Amino acid sequence: MIEFIDVEKTYANNVKALQNINIKIDKGEFVAVIGLSGAGKSTFIRCINRMHDITQGEIIVDGIQVGALKGEQIRTYRKRIGMIFQSFNLVTRTTVLKNVLVSFVPELSLWRKVTGLFTKEQKIKALTALDQVGILDKAYVRVDQLSGGQQQRVALARTLAQNPDIILADEPIASLDPVTSKQVMDDFRRINQDMNISLIMNIHHVEMALEYAERIIGVREGQIVYDGKASEVTEEV
Ligand code: ADP
Ligand code: ADP
Repeated sequence: MIEFIDVEKTYANNVKALQNINIKIDKGEFVAVIGLSGAGKSTFIRCINRMHDITQGEIIVDGIQVGALKGEQIRTYRKRIGMIFQSFNLVTRTTVLKNVLVSFVPELSLWRKVTGLFTKEQKIKALTALDQVGILDKAYVRVDQLSGGQQQRVALARTLAQNPDIILADEPIASLDPVTSKQVMDDFRRINQDMNISLIMNIHHVEMALEYAERIIGVREGQIVYDGKASEVTEEV
């Protein structure tokens, strides 16, 4: 479970990106965080895996006080949390499989040195993850030969290969066309349901959020202004 207790985040330029955030998200939920650009959505999810430090309050994830983690503990903690970005963050000049294998290597610089040095078990795990998102047949294709939707699936497979408890997705479909967006959202839904992975997704596309997520958190000017079931949303939030 993820719990925010009186969380506040003020950036160095004095922008209050989050204020008075009190919220609980249970294991296995599919949450869409919606709101205008600059509302604080990205800050909200990036505080969960300590990409950002909060200024006040506490974030507790499965009993772990996230703010108290240090060095190696942060890296261990982050392994349980997958992160998906709008821009996929893949190494485009190499194969799909190598991009997924990278999840087993703590640092990219190290990965560059070890090209090819992975265990059979890791390779099977990576191929299984590619199968889970329906692109096993692309394993040996270079990433820059794939469509945007396929690239986002590679990113998803890379995350799945590390067996996360939680996936954070920051505008994962913002650069995809509507048809591809739906395919990627179908993947997210399947992963959430079949693997009981908690999914917290920033999305500015409200209809898509309502169609796919179970719970909607609306953010405005750093505050939560709506929190409820997607099925109960009756007007624009
Ligand atoms: P959203 O994801 O909803 O677009 P963000 O969380 O990115 O919102 O931003 C919330 C507010 O915090 C905005 O006013 C933004 O300009 C500001 N902000 C975001 N990141 C930083 C940063 N690293 N330094 C300073 N201000 C930031
Ligand atoms: P995203 O696409 O995730 O919303 P942005 O384009 O808003 O990212 O911001 C890109 C980077 O700049 C992020 O690391 C964010 O934290 C930072 N940033 C965003 N707004 C500001 C700001 N007003 N001042 C300084 N840094 C910012």
